[in-house]
Amino acid sequence: MSGAARRKAAVQAPLRVLAVASEGFPFIKTGGLADVVGALPAALAPEGIAVTTMLPGYPAVMAALGPIQASATLPDLFGAPARLVRAQAAGRDVIAIDAPHLFARPGSPYLAPGGTDWPDNALRFAALGRAAAHAAAHMGFDAVHAHDWQAGLAPAYLRFAGSRIPTLFTIHNLAFQGQFPAGTFGMLGLPAEAFATDGVEYFGGVGYLKSGVWFADRVSTVSPGYAAEIRTPQWGMGLDGLLRSRGAAFGGILNGLDTVEWDPATDTHLPARFDATSRAARAANKAELQSRMGLDVLPDAPLFAFVGRLAWQKGVDLILEALPAILDNGAQLAILGTGERELEQRVRGATDTQIGRVGSFIGFDEGFARLCYGGADSILMPSRFEPCGLGQLCALRYGAPPVVARVGGLADTVIDANEMAIAAGAGTGLNFAPVSQEMLASAIERAIALYRDPPAWQRLQANAMASDVSWKRSAGKYAAQFRGMIADRG
Ligand code: ADP
Repeated sequence: MSGAARRKAAVQAPLRVLAVASEGFPFIKTGGLADVVGALPAALAPEGIAVTTMLPGYPAVMAALGPIQASATLPDLFGAPARLVRAQAAGRDVIAIDAPHLFARPGSPYLAPGGTDWPDNALRFAALGRAAAHAAAHMGFDAVHAHDWQAGLAPAYLRFAGSRIPTLFTIHNLAFQGQFPAGTFGMLGLPAEAFATDGVEYFGGVGYLKSGVWFADRVSTVSPGYAAEIRTPQWGMGLDGLLRSRGAAFGGILNGLDTVEWDPATDTHLPARFDATSRAARAANKAELQSRMGLDVLPDAPLFAFVGRLAWQKGVDLILEALPAILDNGAQLAILGTGERELEQRVRGATDTQIGRVGSFIGFDEGFARLCYGGADSILMPSRFEPCGLGQLCALRYGAPPVVARVGGLADTVIDANEMAIAAGAGTGLNFAPVSQEMLASAIERAIALYRDPPAWQRLQANAMASDVSWKRSAGKYAAQFRGMIADRG
């Protein structure tokens, strides 16, 4: 959108979009979904889109709400009454689902204290969809933006309520599908006809993500690369046929970063703040990171870090297998993450046997993550698949040229620093394919060689920090989706 057109759109009454999600920064976060949900309201405002974010009323969400501006009551939301409470919170317009029987539980939004899914997750997130349909119809919205499987029933509830409000459904990760047994269907309050292939039925059960893909007016995912991949049987996880059948109603819109929230010049989690012209200050962050990770504090040792879920998807096992490429070349590794028990144990094992050279922290810690981005020399993301990935965007912004697998959104956002790209001033990190331990090891060795050539590394770091990782590219694309689907409904 041109500047003039944007100003015009902003003076017109903004479109009112209800975003529906199971997590959102700064209230509750387990991964990139929260970052995106937290960033879109500010990113879309200049496009004339006013976003209100509906979140389950977890304790952290309820505690953040300002004075109540509006409310609605649902007399029976799966077993007890619930209130939809609208208020400002952390600069955002929020509707919280105040339903203590479903959401007044501490800790993870999805997991009980033992680490397994809450047994009533099917109902907890059906409640999110139902509450969204109610709010859309009764609290004044022009369109709904439903995120991931947890919000996948919202378009179904809207459709069967006869609503004319259109929905955009965004897939942040096709690997999480919200698949529940057929017996769940009877509890959802949807008409019998909804339990069909042309409906919420999926491989004999109820598929929440499938419901979103099926019923939404438009479907998006978080990068063009991933959109192409999941149209294929190899990466479509059973849904490629349905995604292909959506034709032009399905596409990829690249995620961005909230560049105010993620700014190394103002980030209070960094002992030394810096910008592109004062990158040398990163040295103090590196020393702090080395010390907090139990690494030898060596200013000249290339320091690689991994920040993320310890899961097969993220290829953390490949990093452990490629360790010799790091250690034999005098480099160090820091891992911050939480996830699968077996991977956590393997990370702890590597830390215990490579004292001072491999460090780790098993847990989720926002400030520590930012210290990794602002202190490590390079961030490793050898994901086997990656819908978009936010870690590499943080790494670019914080001057830690990332080493990434050439898949999905990683391929869309990191330009490989091969000789030509360096000469052209274009490389921003290192890419490798296919995703294997050997190829990761050789990319790490390439990164170390570049690091030991200071002028080349300086150029790479400068290019990384100059990359546009903001929402500017994509905000207009979301706005076009909302306007287009409203126009389609006439
Ligand atoms: P995911 O597939 O988990 O959503 P993304 O790369 O899209 O992966 O986003 C991950 C987000 O979560 C980033 O903001 C990253 O910094 C953050 N994150 C992941 N693991 C941790 C952790 N253990 N502690 C703090 N932040 C984390």
